[in-house]
Amino acid sequence: MASAARTFATIGSVEPPTGAPAGLDRVVVLGGSMAGLLAARVLADHAATVVVIERDTLTDVVAPRRGVPQGTQVHALLQAGGRQLERWFPGFDAGARAAGAQPISPQQWASYTDGVRKPVAPIGDALTATRPFLEQQVRERVRELPNVKIINGRVTGLDFNATEVTGVRYESDGDGGHEPADLVVDATGRASKVSDWLTAAGWDAPPMTRQITGINYATAFFRRPPGRPDIGAALCALTPAKGGDLAGVAFSAVENDRWIVMMGGYGTCRPGETAEDLIRRCRQDFPEPFGRAVSHGIIGDVITYRQADSRRRDWAKAGRLPARLLAVGDAVASFNPIYGQGMSSAALHASCLSMFLRSGPDLTAPARPFFDLQQVVVDAAWATSTAGDRARPSINLPPRGLERVRASLAGMVVEATTVDPVLALGFAKVTQMIEHPAVLATPGSLWRAWRARSVPRPRPVPPLEAA
Ligand SMILES: Cc1cc2nc3c(=O)[nH]c(=O)nc-3n(C[C@H](O)[C@H](O)[C@H](O)COP(=O)(O)OP(=O)(O)OC[C@H]3O[C@@H](n4cnc5c(N)ncnc54)[C@H](O)[C@@H]3O)c2cc1C
Repeated sequence: MASAARTFATIGSVEPPTGAPAGLDRVVVLGGSMAGLLAARVLADHAATVVVIERDTLTDVVAPRRGVPQGTQVHALLQAGGRQLERWFPGFDAGARAAGAQPISPQQWASYTDGVRKPVAPIGDALTATRPFLEQQVRERVRELPNVKIINGRVTGLDFNATEVTGVRYESDGDGGHEPADLVVDATGRASKVSDWLTAAGWDAPPMTRQITGINYATAFFRRPPGRPDIGAALCALTPAKGGDLAGVAFSAVENDRWIVMMGGYGTCRPGETAEDLIRRCRQDFPEPFGRAVSHGIIGDVITYRQADSRRRDWAKAGRLPARLLAVGDAVASFNPIYGQGMSSAALHASCLSMFLRSGPDLTAPARPFFDLQQVVVDAAWATSTAGDRARPSINLPPRGLERVRASLAGMVVEATTVDPVLALGFAKVTQMIEHPAVLATPGSLWRAWRARSVPRPRPVPPLEAA
């Protein structure tokens, strides 16, 4: 059996998919946000007709919408997500840049831990833009697919026969609608009702696991002088030892000559909720580039957002499931957003969908091979994000037994990333979801981290307004 790390690498491949298409007639995707659109792109290779049912009216206006309230907040597109977008929509990167997304080279990307800048990790350019912009770019390309149709409606339930899902019910403008389906993919996000519909119809729902995060976001836009900045995106993460419940701050260049700046905290720690507080902290408490990013005037107000927990629905562990039903994106797993994994996870789930459909699957049986593949992606993202959260004072879930040993080794590796460029690169690949976390637990990595303990730590970069 392939190791999780190898399977993860195969899922993250950027090669065109191989294997015969599944030859389906009509498939239905529930929800038309990032995960639903990416699933629709993959399904367009396998079905005569792909129907996406989305409850929001989708327009060409690039703005946050009701069904995706997190669209007001900073959204980093990790390398894994960017690579998959290019894979499924060749030319995506160039097209998005031409439309206003900002390319950020590794030299322009500054990553700090407790104020100390890490060595540059050469992993390729990042693309930065707002969440509504990115979704609009993907939607535009999906709309160009001749066999994909987007319907405006609210999905209200599923139809089943004795062994399978057979169709989808929805409401649109007060009228009831029905779509027959050879395959249904749930992409309705973290509040998905599909588990309720399954249990109401006598099936088993996937077991749900939650880990409290209580993460508070505060995001605002600031004016950005035109031109290519020295630093186009930055993150200053504070460890629990230094920051307690203060998670850190991030900014990036986005379309229309703006910076998007975000500050986060856990539990009752709510930094930056007013413009004054956000600006003051950026100028006085964080490395100098954060102070500069807020220096040319705020645009609009600070917008806050709170997410209570990270949650996952373990479809691979569900008991009795109908055939012809799958789920992707936040409907399967939604993480503490501070790690920026959501859109890239959705893209990797789309890749799992492609691998599954091209493997000659028995679609009259529950899609367990798909859920097993997807679990590799979910486990990897979950391990990175939940382990990092457990030591926050307001969460206080200290690891036990073997977990404790793992956590202390992981802490040693993270600490060493400020002085060891090889570990900094390895860590960046894991946090950007292009490599599995297991690659950092090798004897070689641990030995480097151990040796790095004796290397003097660089000094934190002073704030713009040093006290
Ligand atoms: C504060 C915050 C910051 C984040 N930052 C990042 C980041 O930096 N990087 C990153 O990659 N990810 C980030 N994420 C996560 C990211 O937003 C999601 O992972 C991503 O949007 C993919 O989600 P999705 O398509 O699965 O679900 P969603 O985006 O939640 O979309 C679900 C869709 O389903 C529709 N829908 C729901 N119910 C129905 C129904 N009954 N009928 C029809 N349609 C329905 C909704 O209208 C919506 O369009 C962040 C999340 C939050 C909360």
